[in-house]
Amino acid sequence: MADLQPTPITVAHGDGIGPEIMDASLKILQAAGANIAIETIEIGEKVFLSGNSAGIAPEAWDSLRKTKVFYKAPITTPQGGGFKSLNVTTRKMLSLYANIRPCVAYHPYVDTKYPAMDLVIIRENEEDLYAGIEHQQTDEVIQCLKLISRPGCEKIVRYAFEYARQYGRKKVTCFTKDNIMKQTDGLFHKVFDEIGAEYPDIEQEHWIIDIGSAKLADTPEIFDVIVTLNLYGDIISDIAAQIAGSVGLAGSANIGPDSAMFEAIHGSAPRRAGQNLANPSGLLLAGVQMLVHIDQPEVAEKVHNAWLKTLEDGVHTYDIFKEGISKTKVGTKEFAEAVIERLGKKPSKFKAVTYTAEGKKKMVLPAYVRKEAAPKQTIGTDVFIHWGGTTEELVAKIVPSINTAGLELKMISNRGIMVWPSGFPETFCTDHWRLRFMSADGADQAIRHRQIAALLDRFVDLDIDFIKTENLCTFNGKNAFSLGQGQ
Ligand code: NAD
Repeated sequence: MADLQPTPITVAHGDGIGPEIMDASLKILQAAGANIAIETIEIGEKVFLSGNSAGIAPEAWDSLRKTKVFYKAPITTPQGGGFKSLNVTTRKMLSLYANIRPCVAYHPYVDTKYPAMDLVIIRENEEDLYAGIEHQQTDEVIQCLKLISRPGCEKIVRYAFEYARQYGRKKVTCFTKDNIMKQTDGLFHKVFDEIGAEYPDIEQEHWIIDIGSAKLADTPEIFDVIVTLNLYGDIISDIAAQIAGSVGLAGSANIGPDSAMFEAIHGSAPRRAGQNLANPSGLLLAGVQMLVHIDQPEVAEKVHNAWLKTLEDGVHTYDIFKEGISKTKVGTKEFAEAVIERLGKKPSKFKAVTYTAEGKKKMVLPAYVRKEAAPKQTIGTDVFIHWGGTTEELVAKIVPSINTAGLELKMISNRGIMVWPSGFPETFCTDHWRLRFMSADGADQAIRHRQIAALLDRFVDLDIDFIKTENLCTFNGKNAFSLGQGQ
């Protein structure tokens, strides 16, 4: 082992089946020779119910910020409002931008419809609709902001290509919905193409998320590494894990520049708690990912191969037990003992894994370097208003007097669809409207923020409730905003 000092890690035993599967996993890791110094923290249900809405105490953060390695059992989020998702908070507080979920079929020892499935989903973990920025703006309309950043895209896409190289994977597939979200998903796709050009040794392709997901559910064996945005990745990774065999088998890593968190993908399965029933495999495989991360690949390899041998020997927990395939039905503890007995052995039917081969180390990626700011011009503004009347009433109220301060009303839309100066009377309208203003001197002319402030004053004069403005900008001379549908 490279380092004789034990590596400090922070461990949370969690709720429900958490304590049982964590005990089993730690027992295996330690029996295999993992050189770790454990700091235990309390998170989850008890902490939530003690009045801490984040589910984690300040002392627990101290431990996490010190060890920078978090081995976490699933927790129960109490029913009812007011409790924040501890997972989302941890990922964002510690900048764990990459979520890595291998989804592998263990045919013929675990029943699956897709015997050849062996893929890894790399999900962006910090951005997208998970920024949690939501506002009710009118009686009828609530908004959730989808934020996509260039650093966020570059980091995750580079991670996916580096992962593919390091783990000998041949292809990276990008999933987006950029036929609709041309700016946000469009950026993700563009960055995929840009960074992909640096990895000519790896096959690359892009699928629109809807047909890509359909393909994933139908022929998962055609995929190798999939990189995608936060929401899509959240959904498809559960589907992929489930169709591979069982949610009880998949582990996941959440990686950031300084810290990392390792966990099973499933929850705390409260109905199975305290009965020595649960399958510890997901958490154990997350532990294997952790050992690679803390530079103990020999131990990772030993554990993973012993686990594969246990599976192919037919020693199975209830969730994967099947008459005719399985041999011995075991509980959580007995499963752990069976893996420990096999430490040092390799599987004979599954391909043995290796983490010690050259290059399979903790990945160290270059930090994002901010690029020089592009020339930017503001050429207009969208003013969003709360208006409970009809299009005709709105037009009658504002069109004669709203053009002011050198700005001209060009379009009104409702939920993105143009309703003025042209539109269909049958278009359904809510009480949430967008009014697009551009320079009276021409649509490509720059405007000043002071003109926007003067325009808002006019809305105040007309007693119209404006909700917000969004500026229309060009970067490097190119329009960086979407047109109204029908515009
Ligand atoms: P779940 O994943 O806990 O359980 C769903 C079902 O899957 C269980 O009833 C069980 O039949 C099976 N299962 C899951 N893990 C298993 C294992 N290791 N071995 C054998 N069978 C297993 O999902 P749920 O019931 O929707 O959620 C229960 C609680 O877990 C909720 O409070 C939820 O908020 C929480 N949760 C936590 C995490 C996390 O901490 N990362 C993730 C998801 C859900």
